Amino acid sequence: MQHNRHSMLSNLFLFAGIGLFVGFVFGYPAELLSAGLLTWSLLQVKQFSRLNEWLHRDKSDAEPPECTGHWGDLFDDFSRQQKRTASREAFLRSVIKRFQQSSAALHDAVVIINDQNNLEWWNRSAERLLGFKTTTDRGKPVINLLRDPRFIRYYKRDSYEEPLQLPSPVNHEIELQYQITRFGKGDRLLVARDITQMLRLEQTRQDFVANASHELRTPLTVILGYLETFLDQELPRPLHRGMTQMQQQARRMQNLVSDLLLLSRLEATRQVTDEHPVQIQSLIQNIHDAATELARGKGHEFELDLDPQHDLLGQEVELHSAFSNLVYNAVRYTRENGRISIRWWVDQEGGHFSVTDNGIGIDAIHISRLTERFYRVDESRSSESGGTGLGLAIVKHVLSRHGGHLTIKSKKGEGSTFTCHFPLDHLMLVSVSEDDDLQDAG
Ligand code: ADP
Repeated sequence: MQHNRHSMLSNLFLFAGIGLFVGFVFGYPAELLSAGLLTWSLLQVKQFSRLNEWLHRDKSDAEPPECTGHWGDLFDDFSRQQKRTASREAFLRSVIKRFQQSSAALHDAVVIINDQNNLEWWNRSAERLLGFKTTTDRGKPVINLLRDPRFIRYYKRDSYEEPLQLPSPVNHEIELQYQITRFGKGDRLLVARDITQMLRLEQTRQDFVANASHELRTPLTVILGYLETFLDQELPRPLHRGMTQMQQQARRMQNLVSDLLLLSRLEATRQVTDEHPVQIQSLIQNIHDAATELARGKGHEFELDLDPQHDLLGQEVELHSAFSNLVYNAVRYTRENGRISIRWWVDQEGGHFSVTDNGIGIDAIHISRLTERFYRVDESRSSESGGTGLGLAIVKHVLSRHGGHLTIKSKKGEGSTFTCHFPLDHLMLVSVSEDDDLQDAG
């Protein structure tokens, strides 16, 4: 640029100088200076119009006009820049083309929604799974085409951490998992995945576990019945010891089968359908009494702190199972003379049930995996304790069916706190008299 300016100025001075010089020689300095400047200007206009013509040519790859001096440099600069821009454009075009080809080949529906909530682009699978039509639907609001109220509620959320599962709007036998991601300035990327096959496999697995557990129940009952009868007899010592061990293991198996059956039942539906007010104080009190019995001889000290005003809306059997699993775990994983504190309280976020112990605690690396089926921190200790490895998986399922969740705080060697959190709409005020209607606390 700098070089161009210098070359242009020296060219201007050359024309002016020649005009002035010739003007002095012939006695018309002013006229010939003006003629020199005019000639220079006309030459610039001519080159400018050549440049203009070249810039607006049809063929973008045409070579620039032949030219010398500063205009030649300018043409070369423009030509180089144009070539760079053209190759960048070609690269971007090929990236977009590859993206479109790869997303068209995807089995998942991919949809781009702009900041006005209108459909901007989608792939072929979106036409198949969501029924969008290229000819008519571009630019239409997404919620005019995906009208299910559950999708609309999901779409209007601020964040999309969890995916949404819904049947396809074009074929109710196809089950889709929707996931939205925000990008740019208010744009959204919607991905809908066909999970029908996966759900079918999961259903087969659940049915198998449920059927196998069910079939195991009867033989186990028979075995335990006979063992009990034999153990009532006078038996030689080694035989008695062997029989007792068989009885212990058969009971463990029975617990395992009943936990597996319970888990299959919990997995069968996502939410509790028949909710009733559950008198949480007496439920916890019963669990506390049973835990005291279980801890007999261990010298544990129990502490109970229960909010007397709020009950919980839900399934009593399930809640009993979840809460007792936590309390029995506290008894099992706390050394002798430990302290176990059981609390039920309500605040502005909802209801909370917690069990705190000063037992063996859990290393932080295990905490995120504790609610997985059969996950155990220490295999040997858990089998000794008689657990099934399914307790916390049951707790997690029960809570999610009641709109709640579990949090775990623990420190190895110091103890643990397991807390169940329930939303406000699952709380009930305890009725003052028998005739009073139960009121919703939320
Ligand atoms: P289990 O039948 O083995 O107790 P759970 O699902 O109830 O199965 O618990 C999973 C694992 O979590 C247990 O094996 C144990 O290692 C750990 N755990 C559960 N509760 C406690 C607790 N209160 N203190 C220490 N560890 C615990």
